[in-house]
Amino acid sequence: MIKKTLAKWRSGHIGRLVGESLRKQGWLYGIAMAAMVVVAATTAGTAWMMENIVNAMTEPEMKSQVWLIAGAVIALFFCKAAASYVQSVFLARAGNRIVAVQQERLYAKLIKRGVGFFAKTESSSLLMRVTQGAQAARRLVDVIVTSFVRDALTLVGLVFVMVYQQPMLSVLFFVVGPVALISVRYLLKRVRAIMQSEMKALSEIIKVLQETSGGITIIKVFALEDQMTNRMNGAIRSVERRANSISKLQSVASPLMEFLAGLAVAGVLVVSTIGVAGSEPTSAGQLMSFITALLMAYEPAKRLSKMRVVIETAMVPIGMMFELLDQEDPMRESPDAKDLIAGPGKIRLKNVTFAYKDKQKVIKKMNVTFEAGKTTALVGQSGGGKSTIFGLIMRFYDPDWGKVVIDNQDLQGVTFASLRRKISYVGQETFLFSATVMENLRYARPGATDEEVMEAARAAHAHDFITKFSQGYDTEVGENGAFLSGGQKQRLAIARAILRKSEILLLDEATSALDAESEALVKEALDKLTENVTTIVIAHRLATVLEADKIVVVQDGEIVEEGNLNSLIEKDGVFRQLFDQQFKQPVS
Ligand code: ADP
Ligand code: MG
Repeated sequence: MIKKTLAKWRSGHIGRLVGESLRKQGWLYGIAMAAMVVVAATTAGTAWMMENIVNAMTEPEMKSQVWLIAGAVIALFFCKAAASYVQSVFLARAGNRIVAVQQERLYAKLIKRGVGFFAKTESSSLLMRVTQGAQAARRLVDVIVTSFVRDALTLVGLVFVMVYQQPMLSVLFFVVGPVALISVRYLLKRVRAIMQSEMKALSEIIKVLQETSGGITIIKVFALEDQMTNRMNGAIRSVERRANSISKLQSVASPLMEFLAGLAVAGVLVVSTIGVAGSEPTSAGQLMSFITALLMAYEPAKRLSKMRVVIETAMVPIGMMFELLDQEDPMRESPDAKDLIAGPGKIRLKNVTFAYKDKQKVIKKMNVTFEAGKTTALVGQSGGGKSTIFGLIMRFYDPDWGKVVIDNQDLQGVTFASLRRKISYVGQETFLFSATVMENLRYARPGATDEEVMEAARAAHAHDFITKFSQGYDTEVGENGAFLSGGQKQRLAIARAILRKSEILLLDEATSALDAESEALVKEALDKLTENVTTIVIAHRLATVLEADKIVVVQDGEIVEEGNLNSLIEKDGVFRQLFDQQFKQPVS
């Protein structure tokens, strides 16, 4: 069994985790293990000493040695206590380091992942993997190190004492030992399956909490409280049931071993008094030493037998964690990526075909040029692929076919940082960090002075509402801007874009949350901003389309018409239809 298990470990996650942890936290584990050796030796030594202790008490001729023996006992117990202390402290340190290392590594991996990954991975699952996975990794390395070093050595030491003191009686141990091992083994079978469903249920708890916090207004409006409560209670009960099953399995191991130990002691008592044929006469001290060793062997043996249960319970979260660490992200920077060479900012999609993973094509053989320094309006029915074009230009996704180039440079060959520096983006939804207004704006350009930030805010017509807050620019915006209105958030997003001052500006229905009056004001600011900037605006109102140098009509992933306003109206095609349906409202 040991051999098979070892083989599995070497090849799997455990070997990797243990090997790596031992290498990286080598000296911490070195000290802890050295202390464990001392603990094992002193434990066996204690059992060994019982012979002298009992003999000193029972045999008159040994009385003279009492002081010596008492001194040795004190020394032994002192060493054991000191070593135990050192062992726990260093083991804990090494364990905490493992948690920290794994979490840092997970986040470093996560933050580099592409947008597509986050679109399809639920945040509750990420949370689980990062928190539970790292803790489980620590538990696993802990149990393996303590089992294989301290417990195994202690057991070896104690068995040695037993065999030395009472070779015949020791046979008992070798009968009871395997029985114990076999009986524990059958408990393990179900542990992993139970753990898997427990992790799922834990994820569900986090998810329900997140949805409660994020969707509370919808929950209230549609009176979904009972439904949410049922979901939550279901998950909570499921975790409870799984936890109970696992503790049942874990708890049965100890009493089982205890009972077996009792049997063994009874056996020793009977055998030693009746006497075994051919056995040498034994002193009370030797017998005492043997029984002490046998009883002491119970603790490490119990822990060793439970080791597999602990390993099994840790394996599920560890597996989930490694899954996250090992996934290769298709959206990687090419190893010889160069910085995007500054240019006027001409963008071209050449023969681009794109589908979100395994779905139908969203962009079909698209060829389009966005002229440098000009404003292009993208119009078309929703779902046509307009936002996807932005995603491709920002390289959130790579085309399946064809390429996207900026100033004649293929995006797949340039560094992410240089590409994203060149682009400002204002979307339909504005994300704000839970920080002050000032900090949120400054994310657009970390080096900006307060004065520059305020100037951008003024241009975006945000300054007035910001200064009306009692703390002005130092006002906390709450979780994702919870304390702000949609229009206010959007103006902050526009202020960010203004502050960023980049050569390419992508506006995805950026003024949709504004009322007519503030839209007119913001438009003024944007007009200034878009001067000599390559601007692509996904337009939803006539006013925006009117201002554009060129209009591109996107339908079902294809460009069906392009040109200036007059030519497209004259053409009397798709745009004309859209124009009549959507845009024909009084121009404000
Ligand atoms: P538009 O901006 O023109 O309204 P989009 O580019 O947002 O259109 O969407 C185009 C199509 O791609 C839609 O059918 C939409 O369902 C699909 N889509 C958008 N985002 C994703 C995504 N992350 N994963 C899968 N499909 C998506
Ligand atoms: Mg869109």
